Amino acid sequence: MRIGAHVDSADPLAEAATRSADVVQFFLTDPQGWENPEPRADAAAIKAAPTEVFIHAPYRINVATTNNRIRIPSRKLLLAHAAGAAEVGASGIIVHGGHMQKGDDLATGFDNWRKTFAYAQEQGGFAVPVLIENTASGDLACARSFEALARLWDAVGEFGVGFCLDTCHAHAGGEDLVGVVDRVMAITGRIDLIHANGSRDEFDSGRDRHDNLQSGMIDPKLVVAAIRASGAPAVVETPGGQDGQGADIAYLRAELAS
Ligand SMILES: [Zn+2]
Repeated sequence: MRIGAHVDSADPLAEAATRSADVVQFFLTDPQGWENPEPRADAAAIKAAPTEVFIHAPYRINVATTNNRIRIPSRKLLLAHAAGAAEVGASGIIVHGGHMQKGDDLATGFDNWRKTFAYAQEQGGFAVPVLIENTASGDLACARSFEALARLWDAVGEFGVGFCLDTCHAHAGGEDLVGVVDRVMAITGRIDLIHANGSRDEFDSGRDRHDNLQSGMIDPKLVVAAIRASGAPAVVETPGGQDGQGADIAYLRAELAS
């Protein structure tokens, strides 16, 4: 089982080493900004390292929205970050499912997702696989409820899209973690990465506040079961830096070995 963490982008290989992580995820730019990634001096070293790498796209990206001033730059930014992800040898780029504005029809959002992949194909395609991640909040989200996820996959499945399952987001988004992998697989046919997170909030709270695995509101055995059932690599996006994440990784390794 490949287990790792989301870490600071300054020196991801060093951060991985301090956590004994086999997998590392990081942002290429400020996650709250709109910047294209810059070339990295350590790109070749990261690519050559045995540590598996995933890149998380900026949070601002929302390719589903009807707001042209967000949707069009979002497509371009996602393409640019996928190119940056390829330079560090990433296995994929993770992007949130996005959401609509009040009064919009969710069907438009699914169609905007389809158009995003059609646009990318015209540009030569995404340089690494795009992994759409389920989200925790919003009434008009494209990938909060699995009912919406199924409609999203009807729109984009033909493009060979990947999926990233976040356990905190599923719990806070109102999807039971018991049997979650089977329910996702019935929709997407694949899980490429697990975001193995606890939650500080109640089931279906709609709040996105990650917690460490052995505290918080999620039974950590359900997170272990999801990793085991999926066979996918797992990354903790939990608080506490080296100590907190290191403990979460050690917990997962021990449970998965038993
Ligand atoms: Zn996540």
